Amino acid sequence: MNLFRFLNLRLKGYTVLLIVFLSGCSQKPDFKTFPKIDAHVHLETSDDSFVQVLKENNFKLMTLVTGSASQPVINEEFDFAKALHDKYPEFISFATTFSMDGFGEPGWQQRTIEWLQESFDKGAIAVKVWKDIGMTFRDKDSSFIMIDDERFDPVWDFIEAQNKTLVNHIGEPRNCWLPVDSMTVPGDKKYYSNHPQYYMYLHPGYPSHQELMEARDRMLKKHPGLRYVGCHLGSMEWDVNVQAKWLDNHPDCALDMASRIEHFKVQDPDKVRKFIIKYQDQLLYATDISVQDENPDFTTRNQVEEVLNQVWLKDWEYFTTDKIIENSSSGKYKCLNLPVSVLSKIYSENALKMYPGFGLKR
Ligand SMILES: [Zn+2]
Repeated sequence: MNLFRFLNLRLKGYTVLLIVFLSGCSQKPDFKTFPKIDAHVHLETSDDSFVQVLKENNFKLMTLVTGSASQPVINEEFDFAKALHDKYPEFISFATTFSMDGFGEPGWQQRTIEWLQESFDKGAIAVKVWKDIGMTFRDKDSSFIMIDDERFDPVWDFIEAQNKTLVNHIGEPRNCWLPVDSMTVPGDKKYYSNHPQYYMYLHPGYPSHQELMEARDRMLKKHPGLRYVGCHLGSMEWDVNVQAKWLDNHPDCALDMASRIEHFKVQDPDKVRKFIIKYQDQLLYATDISVQDENPDFTTRNQVEEVLNQVWLKDWEYFTTDKIIENSSSGKYKCLNLPVSVLSKIYSENALKMYPGFGLKR
């Protein structure tokens, strides 16, 4: 289809009509200058040398404090995120999390809400809830505490009332519950073979993948006004049709792609491309990279330069070109060549919409 754009320019009283043909010569977006947000990273460092790489490549980050640990552990990660946000509010925003210590006992809800209030006052714009809710914490009767547990309801209500976002890693890739032969990506085959303790197929006493998905959906049904981002394609990574159905049923929710782009690559590329275009308002580019203090010889600048080359540029190639690529980790796959308007949404507009306050100083 030919696209015409008519531009009226008034020059010294004359009207000049420019007809610009965009078909066939549409401008390829430029990586360095295109506005980009990685909506799911973990920054645990006081070495801010990596921020220069962000500036040079017009990349901004949403860092998630994660894991429902005890408060001192949370505080440590929180303080890293807050300090980076305070210094570089335009480039780094962050989500807080809360502790499960004392869950179910009197005072837990009040204490948690007070902590979240303090977090928001200090600049957090979202609350991360990790997979340990649903897969680790157990009640007094030893049943697993699921995300739709009514004892969480006042917390979700508070997040909604404060106009903040719940960002939730629920469950694991479905492969975690399947025999190795039936897994859909090589990375999962390797990971679960090497980590039997996390391989749910070997632990039938744990909630099933479906039970975790259903608990999430029951929680969302109780809280229709809660702004919700599901991490890792909502653990529905194996089939874009499953994601499509869920996104249809939850039109105000979104999914981040963190650590799951490999799962797109093993599906039919035309189907994946159509899916991303159709759900362009509900998908967020994200990677799950982590940046930590290591040693002085490998600064965070070095670390993020490696991320740039190994992850960000490769993902960019996947989304923006029509190349056919073959490598050992993903096999052979076709790149998606997405329209620029769709790239704008998945690379930044949707993150700005789902995380109000992103890039602003508190
Ligand atoms: Zn993560």
